Amino acid sequence: MTTVLPWHNSLWQQVLRSKQQNRLPHALLLCGPQGMGKALFARRLIEMLLCEQPQTEGLPCGHCKPCHLLRAETHPDLLQVQPAETGKQIPIDIIRNTIQFCGMTAHYGRYQIVIVNPAEAMNRNAANSLLKLLEEPPSSTMLMLISHQPMALLATIRSRCQRLDFSRPDHQLTKTWLQSQLKNPALDAQLLLNLSAQAPLAALTLVETKGMAKRRELFESLIELPYGKNDPVRIAESWNKLEVAQVLQWMLGWTMDIIRYATTNQTQHFLNYDYKETLKRLAKQFYLHDLFDLLDLQQEVYQLVTGSANVKSQGLLESLAIAWVKLGTQHRR
Ligand SMILES: [Zn+2]
Repeated sequence: MTTVLPWHNSLWQQVLRSKQQNRLPHALLLCGPQGMGKALFARRLIEMLLCEQPQTEGLPCGHCKPCHLLRAETHPDLLQVQPAETGKQIPIDIIRNTIQFCGMTAHYGRYQIVIVNPAEAMNRNAANSLLKLLEEPPSSTMLMLISHQPMALLATIRSRCQRLDFSRPDHQLTKTWLQSQLKNPALDAQLLLNLSAQAPLAALTLVETKGMAKRRELFESLIELPYGKNDPVRIAESWNKLEVAQVLQWMLGWTMDIIRYATTNQTQHFLNYDYKETLKRLAKQFYLHDLFDLLDLQQEVYQLVTGSANVKSQGLLESLAIAWVKLGTQHRR
C-alpha cells in the first residue's frame, strides 16, 4: 500500500516530472535524517516504476501482475540490499550479487531496481564495487541509495547520484501531520519534533516506544551526578541498557541548551524547553569552559558509537558520567 506523506510532496512532484519527461536518472540518493520516510518514498517510486498502468500522481494500479508481486514481496526485478543486522556492514559479496542482478534482463521489461539501505553501511570495498556499477549502469537499472549520513559515503558515489534531500521539510506541515497522528492531545508535537531532528516518523516512534519516559529517567539521573548523589559507574550501566546513540543525542541536546543559556541568557531557542528551569539553573552553576569540554567529549563519544559497530559503549558512558560528576566538583556556587 502506497504511503503518501505530505512533506514528500514537492520531491514527489520533482520525480514525477522527471519520469514524465523521461529524464529519470539511473541513480538516486535519498538522504536526510532517520525518520523522514525516505524508504517509504523509495517504495512509492518503486510501485510507480514497476506498475504496468500507473494512475494519476504516479499511484500504482494495484491490479496488474507486477503490483501483485510487489505486494507479496516477490517481484523478481527488485533487489533490496541491507546489512544482515542493524548496525552491521554491507560486505562486498552482496554488492557483487547486486551487479550480477543488474546485468540480467528485467522480467517484466521495465526496470531492474536496487535499493541500498542504509548506503553508509557499505564497507570500503563494497562501496568501491558499487561505484563501478554507478559509472556504467545497464540501461534499465535504477539504483536507489538511502542514506541517513550522506557525508559518510564516498564523494564519488555522491556525485554520481541525483540527490533527493529530505532534511528540510515544511515545518508547519510536519507539525500538523504529527499532531493528527498523536492519540494523546496532551503530547507536545513541537517538543517531539525538536527531540527527533524535526523528523516526524522518528517523533512518532519516540511516543510509541515510551521514549519520553526514558528521557525523563535519563535526565533525572544525569542532573544528580554533579552533586555526588549517584554512582557514575552504576548510572553508566543503566544508560547502557538504553539505545546508546539516543542517550548521547539527548545529552548533547541538554548540554547545548545549557551552553545556549550560559552564553546568551536567553531561552527562546531551547530544544528542551520542557526542562527550561533546570537547564537554566545548571547554566548558572557550571563554568563555561567545563561545559565546552563536556560537549567535545560527548561529540567524540557520539562519533565513536555511531561510526563503528564494534565499540564497547560501557567504558565510554562511564567516562561521560565521570565528566558530569567533575562539572560539580568546581561549580561556581
Ligand atoms: Zn499495477
